[in-house]
Amino acid sequence: MIDGGEAIRKLALNVARYTGLAPLAKPFVGGIGAILMLHRVTATPEKPDGVNRHLNIAPGFLDAVIADMKADGYAFVSLEEAIERIKAGGKGGQFATITADDAYRDNMTEALPVLEKHGAPITIYVAPGLIDGAADLWWDVVEDIVNARDRLTLATPDGPVTIDCSTRGKKLQANNRLHTWLTLEVREEDLRAALHEFARMNGIRLDGQQPSTLMNWDEIRTMAAHPLVTIGAHTINHVNLKRLSEADARHEIGDVRRILQARLGEEPRHLAYPYGYASAVGCREVGFARDAGYVSAVTTRHGVLRAEHSGFLLALPRISVNGRYQSVAHIRTMLSGVTTPLANAGKMVVTI
Ligand SMILES: [Zn+2]
Repeated sequence: MIDGGEAIRKLALNVARYTGLAPLAKPFVGGIGAILMLHRVTATPEKPDGVNRHLNIAPGFLDAVIADMKADGYAFVSLEEAIERIKAGGKGGQFATITADDAYRDNMTEALPVLEKHGAPITIYVAPGLIDGAADLWWDVVEDIVNARDRLTLATPDGPVTIDCSTRGKKLQANNRLHTWLTLEVREEDLRAALHEFARMNGIRLDGQQPSTLMNWDEIRTMAAHPLVTIGAHTINHVNLKRLSEADARHEIGDVRRILQARLGEEPRHLAYPYGYASAVGCREVGFARDAGYVSAVTTRHGVLRAEHSGFLLALPRISVNGRYQSVAHIRTMLSGVTTPLANAGKMVVTI
């Protein structure tokens, strides 16, 4: 989840789109294919105006994107097939593969019917800790806490600080403050305990149940048996790997394969690094993914695929299909490849 470079991508998108650059540039920067990234797909989000709304798209939009890409000549293939096509330098024509992080239930109830209609495969990256309720969708929990109160108290090393959440604007600031606190100030290993203590201090009970927005194991098993679905790994506890010790990061990347095998009967071959941005995954983590035996791994860096990615199968960029700007024109612009160097300091081959 959570996309670090959204603002810059949006700027790049608009520059490319409104200058008419995208269609002209496609033959030069278009790449060989793309990995699309989804999170939630629902027509009835619980918090349609919430701070995490970028994580949701409507199923009708997914349908429109796939139809438009097919009309433009994209073949929708499995991730396994996409990897083969990257290795072959893109021979076989333009391709796309769809991925979804975190295993939201709406992937099954609302996205799957659209995918079946188009025969489009999907890879769903599962973090067992989220499914078991041992780890939190903390960005969702933070949003709920901020929405529930007009003011919050945060314990800091310098004493308690009051956070104003009385207006929509203040709530947005409060969310940002708490994101900074949890992702930069609290140790990664302590994130859950800190969040729960923060909720308790503010009179809010978190029950530690598995969130109702995620699939349970029976549902994931049903999905795993579907011919269009591949299950990938998303670490055990949805952690920022870069903030962990080597031993802990290797455990999260390596042992999730065994947990998913025990739950689903098959060892996952593909990984999505949680968060996937520069401060969550670097060369060290790519090495751990290699050592753990993954065939591919994806980040949340923005970019189309190029033939050169055959040498970087464990650091593949994606195109986020983002809920804040659900427009087929935006997706087309991103697929043109023109936003890839614009969002990556001129880089054409985006890895880590
Ligand atoms: Zn995630």
